[in-house]
Parts: sequence; structure tokens; C-alpha cells
Amino acid sequence: MKKLKKAKNLLIGAHMSISGGIFNSLIYGKELGCTTIQIFTKSNNQWKAKELTPEDTNRFLENQKETGISSVVAHNGYLINLASPKEDIYQKSLEAMLIEVQRAELLAIPYLVIHPGSHLGSGEEEGITKIAHSLNWLHQKTEGCQVGICLETTAGQGSSIGYRFDHIAKIIDQVKDNRRLGLCYDTCHTFAAGYDIRTKKAYKDTFEELDKIIGIKRLKVFHINDSLKDLGSRVDRHQHLSEGKIGLEGFRMLMNDPRWESIPKILETPKEEGNVKDRMNLKVLKSLIK
Ligand code: MN
Ligand code: MN
Ligand code: ZN
Repeated sequence: MKKLKKAKNLLIGAHMSISGGIFNSLIYGKELGCTTIQIFTKSNNQWKAKELTPEDTNRFLENQKETGISSVVAHNGYLINLASPKEDIYQKSLEAMLIEVQRAELLAIPYLVIHPGSHLGSGEEEGITKIAHSLNWLHQKTEGCQVGICLETTAGQGSSIGYRFDHIAKIIDQVKDNRRLGLCYDTCHTFAAGYDIRTKKAYKDTFEELDKIIGIKRLKVFHINDSLKDLGSRVDRHQHLSEGKIGLEGFRMLMNDPRWESIPKILETPKEEGNVKDRMNLKVLKSLIK
């Protein structure tokens, strides 16, 4: 009985579709037994978005009450690159980010997870500075908004920034008012980037390093994915729990770590068989809770 109750109180869920209306994501999440969900608030591979109507937002907030899913995380679109050296893409990215924050604010979503950006050859330092500038601009444009932006750890594929903890620390350092900045720890990305959590010692060391460099108080969201590729491969390929290179022990430690008790833990594992795989991964995750 005790086990069941504890699992219920934890925030565990998955990335959910918004097909048929943003408010449906909560219904889909509830059907799966999620206590938290992540969504794109617009199409993730287009710049443009239809404006949210008052009906959309009202139905979203109503469905939140009805489903009891009070914890929702937003994720930004994939075209956005806040480190782009290409001026046209950069300007589009800023405008798109502004819309992302405004939409999250309208939906009362507390956290917006973003990919820091890819420097595309301009170099990591320059990329980091550009991302920080972007966030300064964004904070100014959205003064008074409650939405916190969470920088996601990356695998380090291509020229992406954020695969070392110190990249993220440097961005935070260069943002003037960084109270609204948080961290999203993606277990697949971070593992592929070279941070191990498979053994007790590795787990302890990784989070000690994170605390030393970024500070664990910044940690607001976990993305729970196993990794198809090896430690340090710098290849971003999500895998189902227990079928990847991380294995279950790392996730067991993470799920039972009291420091993360109130932090949403969200699956982004492949959706190849619709809900079947989500159900399986959620079941595995819940079974790890002591
Ligand atoms: Mn992401
Ligand atoms: Mn992720
Ligand atoms: Zn990924």
C-alpha cells in the first residue's frame, strides 16, 4: 500500500501529443496514468503558430483541474537556435522564443524547456555568449512573466552547446537576471555526453559535479530516457527503459533520490507503438520506486 501511495505522489509522465487541441494533451496523459506531462504548445517543426484562443486556454486549465495533472512542462520548437550565426535564423529564433514564452504564460505553465543552441562553427564561447544575450533580450521582453526557462543538457551532437555542465553554468552567469533560469537534465543526453549514473559512485560523482558547477537548486525537470548509444558517444538516440546502455540501476537511484522528489520526471522514449511503449516505460519507472 505504501509503495502505491508514494508512486502516486511523484510527478511521473511522458511527452504528450496536442493533436485535436492543446487541451487534449491532459486527457491523453490521464489515460496513461501520468501525474505530469510535457507538451509542445505549437507545432514543433514550424515557425508559425495559430494563436491560442481564450477557449483553448480555458479548456486547458479546466482539463488540468479535471485530470488532476497540475504539473505541465512546455518544450520549445526544434527550429529555434539561439546560438545561430545566421542572422535571419537568429532573428526568427528570437521571435519564436518570445511566442513560446507568451504561450506558456497564457497556459500557466511554469517551465519551458529549451535546447541551448548550436553554434554551427562559430565556436562554443561565441555560441554561449549569443545564447546568454538571447535570454537577456527574452527576459526583458517578457518582464513580469512567471515562466521559467530551463536549459536542457545535450548529448553534444554536431555543434550543440550544453553537453558540459560548465556550458550551462557560463550561460547562467552571463544572464543578468537569472532567477528565471533553470536546468532540465536529460538522462540520455547527459549519459551520451559522458556523465555516468550507472553505479552508486558514478551517480554520486555526476550529481556532485552538477551541484558544484551549476548548483542542484537549478534542477527543475528530468527527461527520463535510456540511451541507445554508449557513454561519451555524443550521439542522441533515446531508448526504452531497460533496453539501453544506462540500464535500470541509474534510474532506480534517480527515482528514489529524495532531492528530486518534487521534480517532474518525463519520458521522451520512442513512440513507435503509440501508447503501448509509454505504458511499458511508465510501468518500469514506477516499479523502481521503493
Ligand atoms: Mn529536448
Ligand atoms: Mn530531452
Ligand atoms: Zn534527445
